[in-house]
Amino acid sequence: MLIFRIFRKMSLFSLSFLLCFSLICEPCVQAWSKEGHTMTCKIAQDLLKPEAAHAVKMLLPDDVNGDLSALCVWPDQVRHWYKYRWTSSLHFIDTPDKACSFNYQRDCHDSHGVKDMCVVGAIQNFTNQLSHYRHGTSDRRHNMTEALLFLAHFMGDIHQPMHVGFTSDEGGNTIDLRWFRHKSNLHHVWDREIILTAAADYFGKDINRLQEQIQGNFTHGIWSDDVASWRDCADIFSCVKKYAAESINIACKWGYKDVESGETLSDEYFNSRYSIVMKRIAQGGVRLAMILNRVFGDHQMDSITAT
Ligand SMILES: [Zn+2]
Repeated sequence: MLIFRIFRKMSLFSLSFLLCFSLICEPCVQAWSKEGHTMTCKIAQDLLKPEAAHAVKMLLPDDVNGDLSALCVWPDQVRHWYKYRWTSSLHFIDTPDKACSFNYQRDCHDSHGVKDMCVVGAIQNFTNQLSHYRHGTSDRRHNMTEALLFLAHFMGDIHQPMHVGFTSDEGGNTIDLRWFRHKSNLHHVWDREIILTAAADYFGKDINRLQEQIQGNFTHGIWSDDVASWRDCADIFSCVKKYAAESINIACKWGYKDVESGETLSDEYFNSRYSIVMKRIAQGGVRLAMILNRVFGDHQMDSITAT
């Protein structure tokens, strides 16, 4: 089972300090971009039922005024810090090259082979920690605010298809190429380039309008019939494994497909992948809300096994 680390309760001051400091010293980010995570968390927060919305507000530091999305990138900002270095393998899964499948026993481990140290294990672990919040049975070693921020972040990461990629190219990170005119790599194309190109081409670079479009698509648009199936989940752990399997399938069918190192990706790649990225952000948000509504609501968390 995932190794539990001893968290000391983090003061609001230290959280704020970490955020400010990390904004100054932007580390190399390897995750849905800030924009992707922010949209995922805003979509989720808009779908919270009153009990969950209240719990989230209680857990957030005062200075973000109840806005979960303001801290959704925090796990990326601290992952290289000594205290949080153990979390760096929790953002992704490396699967065997070309296998195009996810197998928990085979794939969920860190680079040293420590079991459960991947994004699926992390979501399971932090969901389990949060499930004790409502009953006041939290282990004092666990910091509930951090558990919330990690869960919200990792539900974004698991929906970024290239976060469940091949081992030898580190989920596309070592596949250098050009995105239109500038240098990039395949992982970053899916983290950020597609989102920024969509925002620039269709929404005057306004990410809020892009997010509204995504929300419109599932509230009354093209995905409105699909939302119930996205949210459908009898057992959280099984569902999270399914989300990882979806990602590696998309990575194979759309991410890696016909891409070679050194080439230039432009309109054709963008036009055929744009809606996939938007849908994954929507699914991440809808499913994060589903988990938070269960964890903090009346629904029994029987499906979450103790880790
Ligand atoms: Zn991440």
